[in-house]
Amino acid sequence: MTDIVQMKGMNKYFGKLHVLKDIDLTVAKGEVVVIIGASGSGKSTLIRCVNGLEEFESGHLTVDGHPLAPKSGNPKSLAEIRKEVGMVFQQFNLFPHLTVKKNIMLAPKKVKDTSETVAAATAERLLNRVGIGNQADKFPSQLSGGQQQRVAIARALAMEPRLMLFDEPTSALDPEMIGEVLDVMRELAKEGMTMMVVTHEMGFAREVADRVIYIHEGQIVEQGKPDDVFDNPQNERTQAFLSRVL
Ligand code: ADP
Ligand code: MG
Repeated sequence: MTDIVQMKGMNKYFGKLHVLKDIDLTVAKGEVVVIIGASGSGKSTLIRCVNGLEEFESGHLTVDGHPLAPKSGNPKSLAEIRKEVGMVFQQFNLFPHLTVKKNIMLAPKKVKDTSETVAAATAERLLNRVGIGNQADKFPSQLSGGQQQRVAIARALAMEPRLMLFDEPTSALDPEMIGEVLDVMRELAKEGMTMMVVTHEMGFAREVADRVIYIHEGQIVEQGKPDDVFDNPQNERTQAFLSRVL
């Protein structure tokens, strides 16, 4: 199987704070990996390293065959990785002055030189796919949180990513809107998208993840199939965490 993400012995510091400690992690093509752990354990930093939003101090990281070196980055790989990796954040980060459709068209036009006509057709197709085809000409502020997050997913998909990163995509949503976003993510997973997902939605993790990774203070202390991790956690840190959240 092809690995989309390969991390080996990766360490990351913020000043003196050792945030990621010797992380070894591979993600296979088509795999859905859900990362769980307490607040401040390094989950966001880990996935932000994958698309070069954070530098790291030592170790190896390759994303879809593009190597990222510690510190220096590697600008050529970085540019390629940014094209191939979609990211969805807790805050939707849509451009407020652009319509929903224009939000989705922007990156393909700018980065991939996609024509206006093709970009518009893609945006319409993706909006239908995430269930909001009728909202194309609205501005983000006119949409609910759940709708905005679905636009954010469509915007990431417009770049035809090889990997999707999600950082707590439902944490800012009202409870009644969480399901509609998780549904879109579930569909993506079914269609074979490679995904790394940070979430506190344990039901989603159990159902959709191929592998669950538990991070404690910057270290992977346990990983495995969801049923194994949730029903029979081996590490006492994992047990303590799960007893708080399940
Ligand atoms: P999580 O996503 O699991 O809540 P983060 O990856 O956001 O954790 O943060 C891990 C640790 O790194 C925390 O102690 C956090 O305060 C710290 N941290 C995160 N981002 C920065 C930053 N830009 N500068 C300094 N410290 C940071
Ligand atoms: Mg976080």
